[in-house]
This record gives sequence, C-alpha cells and structure tokens, in this order.
Amino acid sequence: MTVGIVGAGQLGRMLALAGYPLGLDFLCLDPAGDAPAGQVAPLLNGAFTDRRLLGELARRCEVVTFDWENVPVASLRTMQRGAHGARIAPPAAALGCAQDRVSEKRLFEKLAIPTTRWRAVGSRAELAAALAAVGLPGVMKTRRLGYDGKGQAVVRTRAAAERAFARLGSAPLIYEEWVPFDCEVSVIGARGARGEVAVYPLCGNVHGAGILRVTCAPYGPARWQALAARYLERVLTHFRYRGVLTIEFFVRGGRLIANEMAPRVHNSGHWTIEGAVTSQFENHLRAILGLPLGSTRPLGHSAMVNLIGRIPPRARLLALEGVHLHDYGKRPRPGRKVGHCTIVEPTAARRDARARRLAARLAAGVRIP
Ligand code: AMP
Repeated sequence: MTVGIVGAGQLGRMLALAGYPLGLDFLCLDPAGDAPAGQVAPLLNGAFTDRRLLGELARRCEVVTFDWENVPVASLRTMQRGAHGARIAPPAAALGCAQDRVSEKRLFEKLAIPTTRWRAVGSRAELAAALAAVGLPGVMKTRRLGYDGKGQAVVRTRAAAERAFARLGSAPLIYEEWVPFDCEVSVIGARGARGEVAVYPLCGNVHGAGILRVTCAPYGPARWQALAARYLERVLTHFRYRGVLTIEFFVRGGRLIANEMAPRVHNSGHWTIEGAVTSQFENHLRAILGLPLGSTRPLGHSAMVNLIGRIPPRARLLALEGVHLHDYGKRPRPGRKVGHCTIVEPTAARRDARARRLAARLAAGVRIP
C-alpha cells in the first residue's frame, strides 16, 4: 500500500519512518531535490502545482496526505477530481481553513472555542478600525504563509502599527490582541475512519523568536486537558476529519485561548515517537488508511528540544544517557529546524530538571520555567 505525501520535509520523513514497520510504501512530491523525506522515500521532484506529477501521485497512491500547511488546496482538488480520483486526507477544506488566519478565527468562533480578539486589515481605514476595536498592544500578522513567527510584528504604539502595516501590508493582514499568556500548550489528536478519536496528553511549549524550542508532555492540570480535547473534537467533527490535527493555545488565568491550528502532525508532538505507545506519525497513517487508532498513552514524562541552525556534535549528544537524536538531513542554516532530541523520564521533576539542562546546552537563550 503506497501513501503519497505532498511535501517532503521532516514531517514527511518521520511519517515514512513510522510507516515502514507497518509494511507501507511512500511516494513524495517536493520542489527541493534534497528534501528530508526524499532521502528515505522515492521523490517526485517538481512544483506542487505540476499537473503531470500530481496525476502520477494520484495514480500510484492509495491515499494522499500532506506534510506542509501551505500546499496549494487547488493541487489537492486536482488530484481528487482527476481520472484517478485520489483520496485526500486530512480533508482539503481543513487545510484551506488553516491557511487563512481569518477563516481559522471564524471557525474557532463558530465552534465556541475561545480565541484572541481580532480584525482583518486590508487598508489604512481597516487598520484604524482594528486598533479602535482590539486596542494596544497587539500583533500584526499576514493572513497567509506565516510560520515560525515570520510575517508578524508585535505592536505597542500607533506608530508601530503604521510601520508594521507599511512593512507587511502588501499582503492581507490580521491584527489581534497581544495575550500576556501564562504559558503555551498544544493538543494533538487523531480521528479515524469511523469517527473514533484518540487524543494525546497536552504539550507545554516554549517558543523563542517565534520558533518552537522545547515541548514537555504530559503538561498541565487535568482540566486543561479536558478543555483542549473538547475543543479539538469540535474541529475534528466539523470537518469529518481523517488524520492528525493540532491546535495551539495560549493559557491565561486557567483559560485556553486558541491561537492557531495545523491540519497535520506537529512539531510539538515529536516526543510521541519515544514517549507514547503510538507516535503521532503512526496514528496519522492509521487514521488516513482506515486502520484502528493506536493508544496515545504516555510512556513517561517526555521533553523534546529542537535543534535549530545546525546539529551539535553528535558524539556529545549521544554520550548523554537516554537522549534520542533525530537528524532531519538538512543543510545547516541559521533559524532552520534541522533536528530534535527527546528524553523520556519516569517523573515530571526529573524530566524538567533534564530538560532545563538540555535546553541550556542546545536551545540557545531559552529558559524553561
Ligand atoms: P504563530 O505563528 O501565530 O503561532 O505565533 C508564533 C508565536 O508568537 C506564538 O507561539 C507566541 O509565542 C507568539 N504570539 C503569536 N501571537 C501572539 C499573541 N496574540 N499574543 C502573544 N503572543 C503571540
């Protein structure tokens, strides 16, 4: 059985690595000839809009998924409609919604999931109206194509808002309130062919310069877990979803405030490879193939530290007991996620102490509370 993956980044690579033991084959599509998943699975090398390659992917695969949230929705629809009528999972509608921060916010509001106050900003008049409605401070973000804190500006004054509009305003924007959060969490879960849902323990996330640095899981009180799972299930049901979905939240005063969602496996779920009975990657494959979902039970207390820019000397990392290294096979570049490592400990206290030491070594400048 062959699974097609549009996008061959590190998420596609980890999907393939999780699928081989199940006897699955993979075929990826990516414009980069040296893409991480292309190093472990066959790669169709070309644009995401290349009709010939999309046709080949649809013809050769039982199901087609994606590992990047900015894959053109039109490409998925082309494969769905073509002669081979490819099965796409997760649904293209969920991807389309997540690609536009405004439609994402509208969805959260429609499903009664608390989110930040926001206004769409497409002109100077709308900027003035947004500042009046939302107030200061706030964050100006591009509606589309933003990731890892790119395409955003924190705004503390009217003048800063004008400058942010001048810098980013060639694209449609969204202005949202700044949330002085206590912490950030994410919830990850899978929905299978018969509507069954499996939710992972909540992840506590620390970002630096907009990029995820460290995740600890399980994290937070049972009440947060229950709230997050309830919100996640609303989105899963709304789309009659198949596969893994992630929602990121700010936590403030015990309230979960949705920031954004990702219709895919997620960086904050990498700990599940060693830290849960079934990894998020395997559960995504099980869900999209109509196989039974696996247990999301944690095997201990996990921490994941992202390796940004370059992989530190391998021997130094591997000399640390219980450190699991994942090198994505990417060329080093400042600010680029090139790998991660995970530890799984028997208690939260031991996990936190080790995570602090690891973060001090690996995640430059990030402090774990
Ligand atoms: P995003 O691309 O929306 O996930 O933003 C990246 C990171 O920037 C978030 O994980 C937060 O750490 C921070 N951030 C984004 N939006 C806000 C906000 N409205 N209030 C406070 N922090 C924010």
